[in-house]
Amino acid sequence: MSKRDYYEVLQVAKTATEGEMKVAFRKLAMTFHPDRNPGDKEAEIKFKEINEAYQCLSDGQKRAAYDRFGHAAFSQGGAPGGPGFGNEFGDFMSDIFDNFFGDGRGGGPQTRGGRSAAPGRERGADLRFSLEITLEEAFAGKAETIRIPTSITCETCAGTGAKPGSKPRTCQTCAGYGRVRAAQGFFAIERTCPNCHGRGEIVEDPCASCAGAGRVNRERTLSINVPAGVDDGLRIRLTGEGESGLRGGPAGDLYVFLSIKQHAFFQRDGADLFCRVPISMVTAALAGEVTVPVIDGTQTQVRIPAGTQTAKQFRIKGKGMPVLRAREVGDLYIQVFVETPQNLTKRQRELLQEFDQSASDDNHPESAGFFSKVKDFFGGAART
Ligand SMILES: [Zn+2]
Ligand SMILES: [Zn+2]
Repeated sequence: MSKRDYYEVLQVAKTATEGEMKVAFRKLAMTFHPDRNPGDKEAEIKFKEINEAYQCLSDGQKRAAYDRFGHAAFSQGGAPGGPGFGNEFGDFMSDIFDNFFGDGRGGGPQTRGGRSAAPGRERGADLRFSLEITLEEAFAGKAETIRIPTSITCETCAGTGAKPGSKPRTCQTCAGYGRVRAAQGFFAIERTCPNCHGRGEIVEDPCASCAGAGRVNRERTLSINVPAGVDDGLRIRLTGEGESGLRGGPAGDLYVFLSIKQHAFFQRDGADLFCRVPISMVTAALAGEVTVPVIDGTQTQVRIPAGTQTAKQFRIKGKGMPVLRAREVGDLYIQVFVETPQNLTKRQRELLQEFDQSASDDNHPESAGFFSKVKDFFGGAART
Protein backbone atom coordinates (compact mmCIF):
# COMPACT_ATOMS: atom_id res chain seq x y z
CA MET A 1 0.00 0.00 0.00
CA SER A 2 1.52 3.29 -1.02
CA LYS A 3 1.66 5.97 1.64
CA ARG A 4 -0.16 9.19 1.23
CA ASP A 5 1.78 12.39 1.36
CA TYR A 6 2.02 13.66 4.97
CA TYR A 7 0.99 17.19 4.00
CA GLU A 8 -1.97 15.77 2.18
CA VAL A 9 -2.91 13.69 5.21
CA LEU A 10 -2.91 16.76 7.44
CA GLN A 11 -4.55 18.83 4.71
CA VAL A 12 -1.99 21.58 4.96
CA ALA A 13 0.28 23.34 2.48
CA LYS A 14 3.94 22.37 2.22
CA THR A 15 4.73 25.81 3.60
CA ALA A 16 2.47 25.39 6.65
CA THR A 17 3.81 26.75 9.92
CA GLU A 18 4.07 24.66 13.06
CA GLY A 19 1.00 26.39 14.48
CA GLU A 20 -1.08 25.79 11.38
CA MET A 21 -0.08 22.15 11.45
CA LYS A 22 -1.07 21.78 15.07
CA VAL A 23 -4.50 23.28 14.44
CA ALA A 24 -5.05 21.00 11.45
CA PHE A 25 -3.86 17.98 13.39
CA ARG A 26 -6.11 18.65 16.37
CA LYS A 27 -9.15 19.08 14.16
CA LEU A 28 -8.51 15.84 12.30
CA ALA A 29 -7.50 13.88 15.38
CA MET A 30 -10.72 14.92 17.09
CA THR A 31 -12.77 13.70 14.15
CA PHE A 32 -11.08 10.34 13.79
CA HIS A 33 -10.21 9.50 17.37
CA PRO A 34 -11.10 5.84 18.15
CA ASP A 35 -13.03 6.89 21.25
CA ARG A 36 -15.35 8.88 19.03
CA ASN A 37 -15.62 6.16 16.42
CA PRO A 38 -15.90 2.91 18.34
CA GLY A 39 -15.52 -0.12 16.10
CA ASP A 40 -14.83 1.98 13.01
CA LYS A 41 -11.76 0.38 11.42
CA GLU A 42 -11.41 3.05 8.78
CA ALA A 43 -11.39 5.84 11.33
CA GLU A 44 -8.74 3.99 13.30
CA ILE A 45 -6.50 3.72 10.25
CA LYS A 46 -7.05 7.38 9.46
CA PHE A 47 -6.23 8.33 13.03
CA LYS A 48 -2.96 6.42 12.89
CA GLU A 49 -2.13 8.01 9.57
CA ILE A 50 -2.80 11.50 10.93
CA ASN A 51 -0.73 10.79 13.99
CA GLU A 52 2.17 9.48 11.94
CA ALA A 53 2.11 12.49 9.65
CA TYR A 54 2.03 14.91 12.56
CA GLN A 55 4.79 13.09 14.42
CA CYS A 56 6.98 13.62 11.41
CA LEU A 57 6.09 17.12 10.34
CA SER A 58 6.03 18.60 13.84
CA ASP A 59 9.66 17.55 14.29
CA GLY A 60 11.94 20.02 12.48
CA GLN A 61 14.61 17.44 11.63
CA LYS A 62 12.19 14.78 10.48
CA ARG A 63 10.29 17.31 8.44
CA ALA A 64 13.46 18.42 6.67
CA ALA A 65 14.34 14.82 5.89
CA TYR A 66 10.84 14.15 4.66
CA ASP A 67 10.89 17.25 2.46
CA ARG A 68 14.07 16.01 0.79
CA PHE A 69 13.53 12.27 0.55
CA GLY A 70 9.83 11.73 1.05
CA HIS A 71 8.76 8.51 2.77
CA ALA A 72 12.06 6.95 1.77
CA ALA A 73 13.65 8.94 4.56
CA PHE A 74 11.92 6.70 7.10
CA SER A 75 11.67 3.37 5.35
CA GLN A 76 13.95 0.48 6.24
CA GLY A 77 17.57 1.50 6.06
CA GLY A 78 16.62 5.13 6.12
CA ALA A 79 16.92 7.59 8.94
CA PRO A 80 16.56 5.94 12.33
CA GLY A 81 13.72 6.71 14.62
CA GLY A 82 10.96 6.92 12.06
CA PRO A 83 7.60 8.07 13.27
CA GLY A 84 6.25 4.84 14.64
CA PHE A 85 2.98 4.38 16.38
CA GLY A 86 4.27 2.09 19.09
CA ASN A 87 6.60 3.56 21.66
CA GLU A 88 5.82 7.10 20.89
CA PHE A 89 2.14 6.74 21.45
CA GLY A 90 2.39 7.28 25.17
CA ASP A 91 4.47 10.41 24.73
CA PHE A 92 2.15 11.63 22.12
CA MET A 93 -0.84 11.26 24.36
CA SER A 94 0.80 13.07 27.23
CA ASP A 95 1.83 15.82 24.86
CA ILE A 96 -1.75 16.26 23.92
CA PHE A 97 -2.74 16.27 27.52
CA ASP A 98 -0.19 18.93 28.33
CA ASN A 99 -1.24 21.01 25.39
CA PHE A 100 -4.84 21.01 26.39
CA PHE A 101 -4.63 21.27 30.12
CA GLY A 102 -1.23 22.74 30.64
CA ASP A 103 -0.46 20.48 33.55
CA GLY A 104 2.00 17.68 33.79
CA ARG A 105 -0.49 14.87 34.05
CA GLY A 106 0.52 12.29 31.55
CA GLY A 107 -1.21 9.12 30.65
CA GLY A 108 -3.58 8.39 27.85
CA PRO A 109 -6.82 6.48 27.85
CA GLN A 110 -4.90 3.22 28.04
CA THR A 111 -3.61 3.98 31.52
CA ARG A 112 -5.73 3.32 34.51
CA GLY A 113 -4.99 5.27 37.65
CA GLY A 114 -2.75 3.40 40.06
CA ARG A 115 -5.47 2.47 42.47
CA SER A 116 -5.89 -0.63 44.52
CA ALA A 117 -8.35 -3.18 43.27
CA ALA A 118 -10.79 -2.64 46.12
CA PRO A 119 -12.75 0.50 45.34
CA GLY A 120 -13.02 3.22 47.95
CA ARG A 121 -10.79 1.49 50.44
CA GLU A 122 -8.52 4.02 52.01
CA ARG A 123 -5.84 3.74 54.60
CA GLY A 124 -6.53 5.93 57.60
CA ALA A 125 -4.42 9.02 58.16
CA ASP A 126 -1.34 8.93 60.34
CA LEU A 127 -1.68 10.92 63.50
CA ARG A 128 0.93 12.94 65.28
CA PHE A 129 0.86 13.50 68.98
CA SER A 130 3.31 15.67 70.88
CA LEU A 131 4.14 14.55 74.37
CA GLU A 132 6.25 16.63 76.71
CA ILE A 133 7.79 14.93 79.70
CA THR A 134 10.21 16.00 82.39
CA LEU A 135 13.82 14.90 82.61
CA GLU A 136 12.95 12.92 85.74
CA GLU A 137 10.28 11.08 83.74
CA ALA A 138 12.76 10.41 80.97
CA PHE A 139 15.09 9.04 83.63
CA ALA A 140 12.58 6.70 85.22
CA GLY A 141 10.33 5.95 82.28
CA LYS A 142 6.65 6.70 82.34
CA ALA A 143 3.31 5.10 81.70
CA GLU A 144 1.31 7.87 80.13
CA THR A 145 -2.33 7.95 79.20
CA ILE A 146 -2.99 10.16 76.23
CA ARG A 147 -6.26 11.25 74.71
CA ILE A 148 -6.25 11.70 70.97
CA PRO A 149 -9.08 13.08 68.90
CA THR A 150 -9.43 10.67 66.02
CA SER A 151 -12.02 8.88 63.95
CA ILE A 152 -12.72 5.27 64.63
CA THR A 153 -14.70 2.64 62.78
CA CYS A 154 -18.40 3.05 63.50
CA GLU A 155 -19.48 0.25 65.81
CA THR A 156 -23.12 0.36 64.79
CA CYS A 157 -22.49 -0.47 61.13
CA ALA A 158 -19.01 -1.99 61.45
CA GLY A 159 -17.71 0.60 59.03
CA THR A 160 -20.03 -0.12 56.10
CA GLY A 161 -22.00 3.09 56.57
CA ALA A 162 -25.24 1.21 55.96
CA LYS A 163 -27.99 0.92 58.52
CA PRO A 164 -27.80 -2.45 60.29
CA GLY A 165 -29.89 -4.94 58.34
CA SER A 166 -29.51 -3.07 55.05
CA LYS A 167 -26.77 -3.49 52.49
CA PRO A 168 -25.01 -0.96 50.28
CA ARG A 169 -25.89 -1.27 46.62
CA THR A 170 -23.27 -1.42 43.87
CA CYS A 171 -22.96 1.96 42.18
CA GLN A 172 -24.45 1.82 38.69
CA THR A 173 -22.50 4.78 37.37
CA CYS A 174 -19.13 3.08 37.80
CA ALA A 175 -20.29 -0.53 38.20
CA GLY A 176 -18.54 -0.69 41.54
CA TYR A 177 -15.18 0.34 40.15
CA GLY A 178 -15.17 3.71 41.90
CA ARG A 179 -13.71 5.46 38.86
CA VAL A 180 -15.32 6.59 35.65
CA ARG A 181 -13.92 7.44 32.27
CA ALA A 182 -15.14 10.63 30.74
CA ALA A 183 -14.55 11.86 27.22
CA GLN A 184 -12.73 15.17 27.12
CA GLY A 185 -12.43 16.24 23.54
CA PHE A 186 -11.22 13.20 21.67
CA PHE A 187 -9.68 11.24 24.49
CA ALA A 188 -10.88 9.91 27.79
CA ILE A 189 -9.73 10.69 31.26
CA GLU A 190 -10.45 8.73 34.37
CA ARG A 191 -11.73 10.31 37.50
CA THR A 192 -13.39 9.47 40.77
CA CYS A 193 -16.98 8.44 40.27
CA PRO A 194 -19.15 11.48 41.05
CA ASN A 195 -22.08 9.30 42.07
CA CYS A 196 -20.42 7.22 44.77
CA HIS A 197 -17.32 9.37 45.36
CA GLY A 198 -15.02 6.45 44.75
CA ARG A 199 -16.70 4.01 47.09
CA GLY A 200 -18.08 1.83 44.33
CA GLU A 201 -21.28 1.43 46.25
CA ILE A 202 -24.21 3.51 47.32
CA VAL A 203 -25.59 3.50 50.83
CA GLU A 204 -29.32 3.94 50.46
CA ASP A 205 -30.16 3.52 54.11
CA PRO A 206 -27.35 5.25 55.96
CA CYS A 207 -26.34 4.23 59.45
CA ALA A 208 -27.72 6.70 61.98
CA SER A 209 -24.63 6.70 64.17
CA CYS A 210 -22.15 7.80 61.51
CA ALA A 211 -24.48 9.29 58.87
CA GLY A 212 -23.15 6.77 56.37
CA ALA A 213 -19.48 7.69 56.75
CA GLY A 214 -18.54 4.39 58.32
CA ARG A 215 -16.50 6.04 61.04
CA VAL A 216 -17.15 8.46 63.83
CA ASN A 217 -15.08 11.12 65.54
CA ARG A 218 -14.16 10.08 68.98
CA GLU A 219 -11.55 10.88 71.54
CA ARG A 220 -9.50 7.79 72.03
CA THR A 221 -7.58 7.02 75.17
CA LEU A 222 -4.30 5.25 74.71
CA SER A 223 -1.70 4.08 77.17
CA ILE A 224 1.86 4.69 76.14
CA ASN A 225 4.83 3.23 77.86
CA VAL A 226 7.63 5.73 77.64
CA PRO A 227 10.79 3.72 78.28
CA ALA A 228 13.53 4.95 80.58
CA GLY A 229 16.32 6.80 78.80
CA VAL A 230 14.31 8.44 76.02
CA ASP A 231 15.78 11.55 74.54
CA ASP A 232 14.35 14.78 73.19
CA GLY A 233 12.99 14.45 69.65
CA LEU A 234 12.40 10.73 69.88
CA ARG A 235 9.52 9.39 67.82
CA ILE A 236 7.49 6.46 69.04
CA ARG A 237 5.44 4.76 66.36
CA LEU A 238 2.30 2.93 67.35
CA THR A 239 1.32 0.86 64.36
CA GLY A 240 -2.36 0.88 63.53
CA GLU A 241 -3.25 3.41 66.23
CA GLY A 242 -3.89 6.25 63.77
CA GLU A 243 -7.17 7.05 62.13
CA SER A 244 -9.37 4.17 61.08
CA GLY A 245 -9.30 3.31 57.41
CA LEU A 246 -12.26 4.01 55.18
CA ARG A 247 -14.50 1.13 54.21
CA GLY A 248 -12.31 -1.60 55.55
CA GLY A 249 -9.00 0.05 54.68
CA PRO A 250 -6.13 -0.36 57.15
CA ALA A 251 -5.73 2.11 59.98
CA GLY A 252 -2.96 4.70 59.92
CA ASP A 253 -0.18 4.87 62.49
CA LEU A 254 0.18 7.09 65.50
CA TYR A 255 3.47 8.89 65.95
CA VAL A 256 4.24 10.20 69.39
CA PHE A 257 6.88 12.91 69.28
CA LEU A 258 8.66 13.25 72.58
CA SER A 259 10.09 16.43 73.89
CA ILE A 260 11.75 16.84 77.22
CA LYS A 261 11.25 19.94 79.32
CA GLN A 262 14.30 21.91 80.19
CA HIS A 263 15.46 21.08 83.68
CA ALA A 264 16.11 23.73 86.32
CA PHE A 265 19.71 22.63 86.92
CA PHE A 266 20.57 19.53 84.89
CA GLN A 267 21.79 19.67 81.33
CA ARG A 268 21.86 16.49 79.35
CA ASP A 269 24.32 15.27 76.79
CA GLY A 270 23.37 11.79 75.71
CA ALA A 271 23.42 9.68 78.83
CA ASP A 272 25.53 12.13 80.83
CA LEU A 273 24.16 14.87 83.00
CA PHE A 274 25.87 18.13 83.85
CA CYS A 275 25.22 20.36 86.79
CA ARG A 276 26.89 23.66 87.61
CA VAL A 277 27.38 24.11 91.35
CA PRO A 278 28.59 27.27 93.12
CA ILE A 279 31.13 26.88 95.92
CA SER A 280 32.36 29.55 98.29
CA MET A 281 35.76 31.13 97.99
CA VAL A 282 36.67 29.64 101.35
CA THR A 283 35.60 26.10 100.42
CA ALA A 284 37.55 26.45 97.18
CA ALA A 285 40.63 27.57 99.11
CA LEU A 286 40.43 25.43 102.24
CA ALA A 287 38.63 22.28 100.88
CA GLY A 288 35.23 21.09 101.98
CA GLU A 289 32.17 19.18 100.89
CA VAL A 290 29.22 20.24 98.83
CA THR A 291 25.87 18.54 98.60
CA VAL A 292 24.70 18.05 95.01
CA PRO A 293 21.37 16.85 93.59
CA VAL A 294 20.98 13.57 91.70
CA ILE A 295 18.34 12.98 89.00
CA ASP A 296 16.86 10.05 90.93
CA GLY A 297 15.73 12.51 93.59
CA THR A 298 18.51 11.81 96.08
CA GLN A 299 21.54 13.89 97.00
CA THR A 300 25.20 13.09 97.16
CA GLN A 301 28.34 14.67 98.62
CA VAL A 302 31.23 15.87 96.52
CA ARG A 303 34.61 16.47 98.16
CA ILE A 304 36.19 19.72 97.07
CA PRO A 305 39.96 19.64 97.47
CA ALA A 306 41.90 22.70 98.65
CA GLY A 307 42.80 25.11 95.87
CA THR A 308 39.90 24.18 93.59
CA GLN A 309 39.43 26.58 90.69
CA THR A 310 36.31 27.62 88.82
CA ALA A 311 35.21 25.22 86.03
CA LYS A 312 36.82 22.22 87.72
CA GLN A 313 34.72 19.17 86.96
CA PHE A 314 33.96 16.27 89.25
CA ARG A 315 32.60 13.04 87.84
CA ILE A 316 30.13 10.96 89.79
CA LYS A 317 29.96 7.59 88.09
CA GLY A 318 26.63 5.99 87.27
CA LYS A 319 24.47 8.93 88.34
CA GLY A 320 23.50 10.01 84.84
CA MET A 321 20.66 8.88 82.56
CA PRO A 322 19.97 5.28 81.64
CA VAL A 323 20.75 4.38 78.04
CA LEU A 324 17.61 3.46 76.11
CA ARG A 325 17.24 -0.31 75.78
CA ALA A 326 20.68 -0.96 77.27
CA ARG A 327 21.99 -1.78 80.69
CA GLU A 328 24.20 1.26 80.74
CA VAL A 329 23.98 4.40 82.77
CA GLY A 330 25.70 7.68 82.12
CA ASP A 331 27.60 9.79 84.62
CA LEU A 332 26.87 12.98 86.46
CA TYR A 333 29.40 15.79 86.02
CA ILE A 334 29.53 18.48 88.65
CA GLN A 335 31.18 21.63 87.43
CA VAL A 336 31.99 24.05 90.21
CA PHE A 337 32.43 27.77 90.02
CA VAL A 338 33.85 29.88 92.80
CA GLU A 339 31.43 32.49 93.93
CA THR A 340 33.10 35.76 94.76
CA PRO A 341 31.68 37.09 98.04
CA GLN A 342 29.54 40.20 97.80
CA ASN A 343 28.07 42.74 100.25
CA LEU A 344 31.06 42.57 102.59
CA THR A 345 30.94 44.07 106.08
CA LYS A 346 33.69 46.42 107.24
CA ARG A 347 35.25 43.65 109.26
CA GLN A 348 35.20 41.17 106.33
CA ARG A 349 36.83 43.77 104.14
CA GLU A 350 39.61 44.31 106.66
CA LEU A 351 40.20 40.56 106.92
CA LEU A 352 40.50 40.20 103.17
CA GLN A 353 42.83 43.21 102.93
CA GLU A 354 44.92 41.68 105.65
CA PHE A 355 45.02 38.43 103.73
CA ASP A 356 45.99 40.26 100.57
CA GLN A 357 48.92 42.04 102.24
CA SER A 358 50.30 38.72 103.40
CA ALA A 359 49.75 36.98 100.07
CA SER A 360 52.68 36.05 97.86
CA ASP A 361 53.10 34.66 94.34
CA ASP A 362 52.94 31.22 95.95
CA ASN A 363 49.28 31.82 96.78
CA HIS A 364 48.47 32.74 93.17
CA PRO A 365 50.78 30.76 90.88
CA GLU A 366 48.43 31.23 87.92
CA SER A 367 48.50 35.02 88.22
CA ALA A 368 52.25 35.08 88.80
CA GLY A 369 52.89 32.91 85.74
CA PHE A 370 50.54 34.86 83.54
CA PHE A 371 51.82 38.31 84.44
CA SER A 372 55.46 37.32 84.06
CA LYS A 373 54.62 36.14 80.52
CA VAL A 374 52.87 39.46 79.81
CA LYS A 375 55.94 41.31 81.12
CA ASP A 376 58.22 39.32 78.78
CA PHE A 377 55.93 40.06 75.88
CA PHE A 378 55.92 43.84 76.39
CA GLY A 379 59.55 43.92 77.64
CA GLY A 380 60.75 42.67 74.26
CA ALA A 381 58.75 45.38 72.52
CA ALA A 382 59.93 48.16 74.85
CA ARG A 383 63.63 47.64 73.99
CA THR A 384 63.22 48.73 70.37
ZN1 LIG B 1 -22.19 3.64 61.09
ZN1 LIG C 1 -19.68 5.00 41.42
